[in-house]
Formats: sequence, C-alpha cells, structure tokens
Amino acid sequence: MPVLDQQLIPVFDEVVTRNPGENEFHQAVHEVLESLGPVVAKHPEYADGEVIRRLCEPERQIIFRVPWVDDAGKVRLNRGFRVEFNSALGPYKGGLRFHPSVYLGIVKFLGFEQIFKNALTGLSIGGGKGGSDFDPKGRSDAEVMRFCQSFMTELYRHIGEYTDVPAGDIGVGGREIGYLFGQYKRITNRYESGVLTGKGLDWGGSQVRTEATGYGTVYFVNDMLTAVGDSFDGKTAVVSGSGNVAIYAIEKVHQLGGRVIACSDSNGYVVEENGIDLDLLKEVKEVRRGRLVDYAQARGSGAHYSATGSIWSVPCQIALPCATQNELDEADAAALASNGCLVVAEGANMPTTPEAIDVLRAANVRFAPGKAANAGGVATSALEMQQNASRDSWSFEHAEERLEKIMRAIHDRCLETADEYGATGDYVLGANISGFTQVADTMLALGII
Ligand code: NDP
Repeated sequence: MPVLDQQLIPVFDEVVTRNPGENEFHQAVHEVLESLGPVVAKHPEYADGEVIRRLCEPERQIIFRVPWVDDAGKVRLNRGFRVEFNSALGPYKGGLRFHPSVYLGIVKFLGFEQIFKNALTGLSIGGGKGGSDFDPKGRSDAEVMRFCQSFMTELYRHIGEYTDVPAGDIGVGGREIGYLFGQYKRITNRYESGVLTGKGLDWGGSQVRTEATGYGTVYFVNDMLTAVGDSFDGKTAVVSGSGNVAIYAIEKVHQLGGRVIACSDSNGYVVEENGIDLDLLKEVKEVRRGRLVDYAQARGSGAHYSATGSIWSVPCQIALPCATQNELDEADAAALASNGCLVVAEGANMPTTPEAIDVLRAANVRFAPGKAANAGGVATSALEMQQNASRDSWSFEHAEERLEKIMRAIHDRCLETADEYGATGDYVLGANISGFTQVADTMLALGII
C-alpha cells in the first residue's frame, strides 16, 4: 500500500481507532487519503486535516432490528443499516445491499465511496448507503416481501425525497424496490415517488436506470480507449458477476463491437470464446433467478464452466470486475497484465485490492476506479429524481444520451484533475481529488456542522 502524506497519517490512525474491525471502511478511507498528499500541500485550508477528519465521520448511523416471518411460520431476525454519511451536496443518496456479508464496516465503506462518486456526477446528491445481512437467495417472493415490509417499517422514518433517497445494490433489484416503496407509501400515506430510485417504469421509474451502471462503466472505458486513439472494436472482455451491473456491461460491450468471453457468480465462472449469449443469460438470471451453472448447462459444449480457479486467468484485453469488493487480487492482476490486458475498470465498488492496483500501475494497465467508472447508476438515479420532481418521464434515447454525456464529463474531469496535479492519466488520483475538493470546499462554506 502506498504511504500516506505525514499530515494524513494521524487522520487515518484516528479512523482505525474509532472504527475498530471495519477493515473495508479502513481500506476505502486509505485509498482516498493516498491521493490527497498533493492537495494538502497545495491548499493550506485543508492542511490541519480538520475537514478531512469530519468527512471520515458519518453524519448519522442507524442500526435496527428487522424481524420477519418465513413461509413455515418461523420468526427470523436480521439487522438493518443506513449510514447517512455526508449531505453537503444534497440529500443522502446510495443503495441498499441485502447480502449475508453485510455489517457496519461494509455499509460505511460503500457510503464513504458514494460521497465522492456522487460529487463526480455533478448532480447535487450527498452520500449514504444501507442494507441488511438478509440473504434473498432461495427465499420465496412472499418471504422477500415480508422482509422488505419489516425493513421499511423502521427505515421510513429516516428517509424522504429531500432527506435520504435509497436505491438498489447487491440483492436489491426491481422486486425489492417495489415492496419497499409499497410499504413506504402505505405507512406515510404519501405517493412520494422521489423517496426511492430504481422503481418500475409504470410507477415513477426512469428509462435506462436498470442498464445505467453497466452501460455507464462501458461508456467510461470507451472514453478511456478513445483518449488513446483506440476503440472497443474487435476487443475481448471479461466481466465478473452476472447480476445487474454485469449483464448490462456485457450488453454495452457487445453493442460497441467488443466480445465478452467470460462472466461469473459466487460459485464459478463460464468461458465462451464466441461470446456470452446475453438473451439466455438474462433469461436465466433475471427471469428464472437461476445460477450461472444453469446457463452453462443450457449452452452445452460451446461454454466451459469452472467451479474452481479465477475468472481473471482468462486472457482478455478489457477486464470489468462487476461482482463485489476485493474480488481481484494481486495474483489476478499479475495474470491479467501478463496476458496483455489493456484496461481494468471497476463496475463494482472497490473490487480491486490495493496490492492489485499497484501491480496494474506498474504494468501500465490503465485503471478506472469504481467511484468514477460505475457512477452511471447513481447519476441515472438522480435523473429519476428529476423526472419525479417534475412529474415527467423521458424516452430511453434521451435518458441514455444524458447518461453518456455524464460519463464523458466524469471521465474528462478525472483526466483534467490528474493533469492539474502532474499525474497525467491517473484516473484514481483524478477521481479522488476532484470529488474530495468539491465536497470539502462545500463543507468549509457551510461552517462547522
Ligand atoms: P447483483 O446482486 O445484481 O449481482 C451481484 C453479482 O455479483 C452476482 O452475480 C453475484 O453472484 C456476484 N457476487 C456477489 N457477492 C459475491 C461474492 N461475495 N463473491 C463472488 N461473487 C459475488 O448486484 P449488482 O450487479 O447490483 O452489484 C454488483 C456490484 O456493483 C456491487 O459491488 C455494487 O455495489 C456495485 N454497484 C451497483 C450499482 C447498481 O446500480 N446496482 C451501482 C454502482 C455500483 P451470486 O448470485 O452468486 O451471489
């Protein structure tokens, strides 16, 4: 891990001491602080570390009990979280994750990342995140509904279109947002569309929100390629995961002339040299809620399924980690680099370990951090809020055009900031510094609150 600027070491030490055992949160803070040395040197107003210390402390952390009854009549118990991290730029905004691995440290890392990501979109949204250790896998629709209703029965008092606007993330898609919105509407007796994003198209959702994170990541990579006179045309790509982000990343790579030859889930990965059959993948994952092994079985001999080893050993020119945090380690990065990979862009949040990022940097593999590359999801959520506020609904083409422009603006903003700090082409530094300075300057303008 790169060392921190002397002035930032006490800030990081304090974060570790005040948040014991929250390793993912420590990692996310360290990654941002690594970029801030030149900022502290250039701007005396940040030098005492005061605003950075405040930024690392969430404005509010809510933890609550979520009891629910399963189909057999047994009472089940989960824990719910919402971390309202920073509202300098706008209402807290960020998804809800339902996965057994969720605890406070995961929610805080995601909320912290979200602050800078949301700033990069230029769309006046603060940062927050939430979720539960509930596992929707293998649960009936009725069980998922009862869980969501119980979760919202506590969460409703903390959210609102001007306060905090949750959305989906791992384990939370259109079905869950529907149950959550229904319960919010019932409890509050308000049709407050802007309180949640990722809604269905018939009840306040936006065109392109489902596709936005995956599409946006690929638009970002396209801009990275264009910046060096290259394109997707004829390139091979590997995409980890096979959920919302992965599926629509695959779709956009194919639309831009590339070929995705492998994808995965938490049980294994499939390699298909002729390209993943997206219609079938959508059918298996989105309609049947099946596993990747079901997809591979349906494809027969053209697809090779592996339950062991790493998807990153598959040679490719573009690698898009779109599953979960810390899924691409040092050995994976070395394999990608030695197989001639040109670009790694994070569709997921923090999927690349710090050691892996070092390996990619050393091998001159261009790298885009999630807070820039996957910002298309939250940006389109903000567009959904705009449509809700004006009781409007845009066409697919218009929403996609806005998304494409926003991704280009984020891309250019990262590169310009990197140039300004003498780190040409460093998207990590560009994203961190650009997001940080906007939020920190606003915090200073708003006083000590
Ligand atoms: P989904 O639940 O739709 O899909 C998640 C995918 O990742 C599944 O294929 C899942 O496999 C796999 N996965 C999850 N946990 C693990 C794990 N521990 N090990 C290996 N594979 C795992 O989630 P999304 O596609 O929405 O989210 C994926 C990533 O993108 C997350 O990091 C999320 O924070 C990030 N993101 C999502 C946004 C969105 O709009 N949805 C916006 C910005 C970022 P399995 O089914 O086997 O669990």
